[in-house]
Amino acid sequence: MVHRCADAPHGSFFYRPNSRMSSTLYTYNFPTRIRFGSGARHAIAAELTALGIHRVLIVTDRDVAQLPWFPALAASLADFKATTFSGVWGNPVVSQVNAGLDAWQAHGADGIVAVGGGAPMDVAKAIALMANHPGHLFDYEDGASTRPIDQPIPPIVAIPTTAGTGSEVGRSTVISDDDTHAKKIMFDPQLLPRLVLADPELLLGLPASITAATGMDALTHLIEAFLAKGFNPLCDGIALEGIRLVAQNLQACVDFAQRLRTGATFDDATAAAHLAARGGMLNASMMGAIAFQKGLGVTHSCAHALSTVYDTHHGLANGVMLPAAMRFNLAAAPEQFLRLARVVKPEATDGQEFVDWIVALSAAIGIPASLGDLGVTPASFAPLVAVAIQDGCHPLNPKPVTEADFYAIYQDAY
Ligand SMILES: [Zn+2]
Repeated sequence: MVHRCADAPHGSFFYRPNSRMSSTLYTYNFPTRIRFGSGARHAIAAELTALGIHRVLIVTDRDVAQLPWFPALAASLADFKATTFSGVWGNPVVSQVNAGLDAWQAHGADGIVAVGGGAPMDVAKAIALMANHPGHLFDYEDGASTRPIDQPIPPIVAIPTTAGTGSEVGRSTVISDDDTHAKKIMFDPQLLPRLVLADPELLLGLPASITAATGMDALTHLIEAFLAKGFNPLCDGIALEGIRLVAQNLQACVDFAQRLRTGATFDDATAAAHLAARGGMLNASMMGAIAFQKGLGVTHSCAHALSTVYDTHHGLANGVMLPAAMRFNLAAAPEQFLRLARVVKPEATDGQEFVDWIVALSAAIGIPASLGDLGVTPASFAPLVAVAIQDGCHPLNPKPVTEADFYAIYQDAY
């Protein structure tokens, strides 16, 4: 059982705990070309030309397609005969991919521009995968494939509109079965977007609750990647700087969003500060997804179960579980927790101060303090644990997690 954050425990990147450094080759991947900055989206036409794309399918979700800036973005691609597929909503499912594939084929497209959060990114990748591959999408499930991914995958340009999953810098796509809701991962290096246009202007209208929940997903990626078993000092460094960016910017983003909701108008300095904070979180989100090629941990396993059993928003689930999961981990990795604490509080002397910081941040941005606030009852701990123990994230947690441990963590979060 895995969720959208699926780029980590795969093949050549997978840590082999019994191998010795002296006899093991490690693989690091940081290949995405990113153009970051206010107005980055306006570079799209020149970039598509440089990529040799002539006919574009824009893949987005039905909410993003309604945003005020979207028509102008689509119109700027008139020279590329752009047409829009906006049949994505909620957790992406196979039928959405198939509808998008029909749109791709009907249009005779040769490239995709994916605009939105994790869901349209994943659907765009799945459409691209199926463009030149026969059969059913799940024939290509990572680790259980019945057909090879051996044909070219058309190019994807990604324009993120949230700061959370970081799917725009990932090489996998996670799609659910329409009926069973079982999530499957498809992985291929060619699924990595050729280019990310990271434009913080597109995040200025995100509501406070979505800003908070997606931001906690990014933070959880960064923390769990840093703590994950394995040897990847590049990821460790990226994770620490990403956490600094979250500490500097997430609460500010939520505060700005709340003020806008009450009808406030910003002067130029405040608007610039809002844009800078959104840019900080956009980078932190991509850094989280890059870092978690090292691995994730027990928080994600708990959160994936909540999404399966209660359909809880992934970022919200991570946010609610993170304090209890880190209390569970603290004693197993005191030196790493102290390093984390010193990122957010340079004078810290104890890793507990990092856990305290997480709790304070969650409260400040409106993340519920307990599972009870999400409607979870102790009666559902058994089905939650049954899903969580099967999840692929916790084997890389710094401390082994048993069924009894999962019960204790859910109880603590409750
Ligand atoms: Zn995640």
